[in-house]
Amino acid sequence: MRLAQLGEFGLIDRIAARFPQPLAPELGIGDDAALLSPAPGMQLVVSTDLLAEGVHFERPFGQLRLLGRKSLAVNLSDLAAMGARPRWFFLSLAIPAGLPLDEIEVLLDGLSEQAAAHGVLLAGGDTCGSRSGLVISVTIVGEQRPELLLRRSGARPGDEVWVSGTLGDSALGLQLLLKNKSVTGGAATEYVVNRHLDPTPRCGLGQALAEAGLARAMIDISDGLLADLGHICQQSGCGAEIALAHLPRSPQFERLVTSATPFPWQLVAAGGEDYELCFTAPADRRAAILERAKTAGVPATVVGKVTDSGRVVAHLPDGSIFQPSSAGYTHF
Ligand code: ADP
Ligand code: MG
Repeated sequence: MRLAQLGEFGLIDRIAARFPQPLAPELGIGDDAALLSPAPGMQLVVSTDLLAEGVHFERPFGQLRLLGRKSLAVNLSDLAAMGARPRWFFLSLAIPAGLPLDEIEVLLDGLSEQAAAHGVLLAGGDTCGSRSGLVISVTIVGEQRPELLLRRSGARPGDEVWVSGTLGDSALGLQLLLKNKSVTGGAATEYVVNRHLDPTPRCGLGQALAEAGLARAMIDISDGLLADLGHICQQSGCGAEIALAHLPRSPQFERLVTSATPFPWQLVAAGGEDYELCFTAPADRRAAILERAKTAGVPATVVGKVTDSGRVVAHLPDGSIFQPSSAGYTHF
């Protein structure tokens, strides 16, 4: 069957059938709007992200499953950065008329895998045709007690700056993908490419830090550490000092860049799409943070400290100041 035969409403029915629905029918797909109630004492937390073909992704055959996973992952990462628990999502699709139905099914496979992994329910969306490429927009709704939510504005001079996981894998993976459309090159290449195509949102760690009251400010690293830490500093009215040598890198990243001179600090400090968490906290919370990170199964590393300088300064291993060739990705 082709998309033209199935039609808009046939496709919506097919999408709805792929996801477990909220218990009461009026809360989910099918009416003009969805009705959402947070649990008692909780505040709703909402974020939206859009992925456009040719801008955020290319559409080589076989990667639509990962694209489905990623379109939800980037939204989950935004909620993680607030310390919120994800509960529902909305899916809006603009689909080129010629896109084969089985490719749409593969995209839905990825979305439903990720939704099941994080226990989020599909509560609605919108569907239309596209005259250019595929566009996927996901809106996510979560909840948290208002007093626990972590904003970008909470950092204070003297706080330590932390980063979860490892940085630079995704940017290196993208670089390798662009150079060499089909990925062959061994396990390390596969690892970094997968970090780009299938990022892991740090939901457990984000919630744990918020619920234990351990972090003061938090953001997810989507545009590169220096740019996103810059947002924390700007909104907190402070600055930061970072030691690039302390930025956590994966063994796979290290293996792939051994012969690169100079060392590609740009990828680590400003590459983007890491979807790791960057947060600040007073130094006396170190042990408690490391324990939460261990429970969440993700490393956490101190990479610098918050200052009152008003700007982010990154030091190279020789002590000189690193000037990124661009601080992070911007669209216009
Ligand atoms: P409207 O005409 O008001 O835009 P639609 O006919 O587009 O309404 O949508 C009908 C129902 O189907 C709504 O409940 C909407 O949330 C849901 N829906 C439409 N597209 C999607 C989608 N891609 N994913 C999930 N639900 C969808
Ligand atoms: Mg509609």
